[in-house]
Amino acid sequence: MELNWSRCVICQQDTSEPLKCPLHSRDPSDKTGVYASFLNNVEQFSVIDAVPVELLFGNNETVEKFVSHSAAWHKSCYLKFSSSKLAKAKKRTHKHDTEERRPRKRKSLEVTKCFLCEKGEEESVLHEVSTFHTDKNIRDMITELNDTQLLTRICGGDLMAMEAKYHLSCMVKLRNRHRSLIRKQSQVPDDIDSKMNESRAFVKLTRYIEEAVTSGTHLFKLSEIHSLHVTRLEELNIHKQVNKTRLKARLLEKFPEAQEQSYGKNSVLVFKEGMKKIVHDAVKTRNFS
Ligand SMILES: [Zn+2]
Ligand SMILES: [Zn+2]
Repeated sequence: MELNWSRCVICQQDTSEPLKCPLHSRDPSDKTGVYASFLNNVEQFSVIDAVPVELLFGNNETVEKFVSHSAAWHKSCYLKFSSSKLAKAKKRTHKHDTEERRPRKRKSLEVTKCFLCEKGEEESVLHEVSTFHTDKNIRDMITELNDTQLLTRICGGDLMAMEAKYHLSCMVKLRNRHRSLIRKQSQVPDDIDSKMNESRAFVKLTRYIEEAVTSGTHLFKLSEIHSLHVTRLEELNIHKQVNKTRLKARLLEKFPEAQEQSYGKNSVLVFKEGMKKIVHDAVKTRNFS
């Protein structure tokens, strides 16, 4: 990001506090030296990861550039980077190191990097894991994915406490990986199951028809057969639309001796023996009428 040189180079905020530019100071001493020592302090702060204010300029800022732009700052902002503040910060991190490194390794994550891809802010903006829900969410996903590399990275404890950061795109990738895993886990066996149940239901339907034919029923209303089949499927937890025409075609394929007849709106499956009987009955009725 480009610095707005007309504002405080440190905070980039437009406040009521007047801006001071070392080039315009009344102090006759080495004016550019102020920039040099400031930039030097910034670097040292960043080495110990204790930069007091988030800066919009990186390590490539030079004294020459500061001079050419007459870089200015608020006194209060400048003081945060003073050598005495730096010394204190160094003491603090040193204490931190010796105190915390041995007994409990709390900050196992490098907080300036995305814990998913281990790249820094140069990739894209880093986001913080900000709520307990997100922490649990991420943890669950990684655990289910059984990604050992990621698991070791997050094992240190709560991601929020570890100040874990991530790129949005990396989080999206993780979520997608997890989603496709879930899909794989749940769908494949389910799919096979439902196909098996479906053919089971169809076999049941044909048995029913066979039995009915054997015991003298030769006429089946397609709508009744259809709803019988749908009910069976629902009992097997398969909720799907069954196409009547396709069902009829399957049945006619299974029973080549059957025929389809239409009576008005009703489609009827008639079995050959049934046909004989219909004809027989028709003849009989005609004879007796
Ligand atoms: Zn400022
Ligand atoms: Zn990343």
